Amino acid sequence: MAEAQSTRILEKGAKIVLASHNAGKLREFSMLLAQTGITVLSAAELNLPEPDETAESFEGNAAIKALAAAQASGLPALADDSGFCVAALNGQPGIYSARWGGPEKDMHVAMNRVQAEAGDNPNRAASFVAVLCLAWPNGETRSVRGECHGHTVWPPRGEHGHGYDPMFVPEGETRTFAEMPESEKNTLSHRGKALARFLTECVEG
Ligand code: IMP
Repeated sequence: MAEAQSTRILEKGAKIVLASHNAGKLREFSMLLAQTGITVLSAAELNLPEPDETAESFEGNAAIKALAAAQASGLPALADDSGFCVAALNGQPGIYSARWGGPEKDMHVAMNRVQAEAGDNPNRAASFVAVLCLAWPNGETRSVRGECHGHTVWPPRGEHGHGYDPMFVPEGETRTFAEMPESEKNTLSHRGKALARFLTECVEG
């Protein structure tokens, strides 16, 4: 059974840690949270360790990262975990999305593997998933999930975005995520939906 989710919310002016060493993510979250008066510190600037992502779900891995940062820093910590789930592959690569790029994290390798393993399966349904977890130093956690459903195309198309964007067309669209400007992708994306939910459910209004 899932553990009870924390009902604590972040107050205006709170200081939190982003449990990621990725500078791009720090910029994205700092900008988004600026309107709420929340200050975002990075795990890198606090010299926090990066724990192994050993869970078998997005929620589990987001919680591992958020709890490690909250306990090491004594501050509330936010972590995200995301991935690409392909119906013809029973939801793979899922939590292994980054790892399918191999040691070089080459996303062309990853996209080719998805295409090769899906073969000529006519089911092209796929979705992106993003989970955000807010953890408190006392071990309480709260997570929110955003999903974006659509289908895969081959060959990949478009120059924007990252990861599997060039082979994914969201529902109601004909363009891939990589054929859209980032601002437009953000209004449709799994991460955009999870962030909107986080602001509504976890941050003082
Ligand atoms: P992480 O959550 O940053 O570890 O990302 C996991 C992996 O999922 C990334 O390396 C990408 O391969 C994939 N992924 C997550 N979000 C997106 C997205 O918005 N577009 C394309 N690929 C994504």
